[in-house]
Amino acid sequence: MPELPTVDAFRRYLIKEKLIGNRITSVDVTWPRSIISPDRDRFLDNIKDGVITSIDRRGKWLFLVLDKGILGIHLRMTGSLFVVGNADDRIPYVRTTFDLQDGRKLLLSDPRKFGKLWFGDDNKEILAKLGPEPVNELLESHADFRFDEFSKHFIKRNIFLKTLLLDQAIVAGIGNIYADEILLHSKLSPFVRTSDLNKTDIEILFESIVIVIGDAIRDLDLLLQEGVLPVGNEESKSHFKLPRFIGGECQICGSEVAWTKINGRGTYYCEKCQG
Ligand SMILES: [Zn+2]
Repeated sequence: MPELPTVDAFRRYLIKEKLIGNRITSVDVTWPRSIISPDRDRFLDNIKDGVITSIDRRGKWLFLVLDKGILGIHLRMTGSLFVVGNADDRIPYVRTTFDLQDGRKLLLSDPRKFGKLWFGDDNKEILAKLGPEPVNELLESHADFRFDEFSKHFIKRNIFLKTLLLDQAIVAGIGNIYADEILLHSKLSPFVRTSDLNKTDIEILFESIVIVIGDAIRDLDLLLQEGVLPVGNEESKSHFKLPRFIGGECQICGSEVAWTKINGRGTYYCEKCQG
């Protein structure tokens, strides 16, 4: 599933492709169930002729702000975005096509069809349950992501650390893969529970969230500048410290990675680094 760093790479990609200022001349949605709100006809009608004025991200949501409202795109499991020329139709699994005034198309490709589309005047409602961003534009700790607030969650609940990291209300944008990377960076075992941590452990975890997410955004941005497009399935990415296959080696100590399930989620970890 595309997590915060990949969704941010898509945001940067769309900006690099100069989508801002472009008008969406028509929209074709071949999988109408992807539209959360409003209904299909109103969705298509609302977006048609909208001019893209900015492109933002919150958590795993991407927002194309139009002069007539906000288009939200959530890539969910397997969604990817491509900007292609008029003659380029080699992209498979296209579920939504936005025709642009300059002759190009913005395509939502989504093999498993879990991606979601939303349109409205104000995205406050869909963002209401979302916790703070971990990093700001400078990839430092975001002003809204505060240690005192974060540490309160460890007193209130006794759950696996990984489960806490996946809670979008505590910090936005972390999914299965980056949760594993953050635990490795913290040198905390995935079997540790929130009540097992002292204040120093929580401080290390807090810092690791900022560092791992910030580094990933930077790495994906460098790849984008080299012409490597973001893809929805992140598991092939080379910048992970924990390879996501059995037999892969921890990129910190060289030990073979271990695998388990935590609350039903496949979890890679290093027994040596996180022992
Ligand atoms: Zn290791």
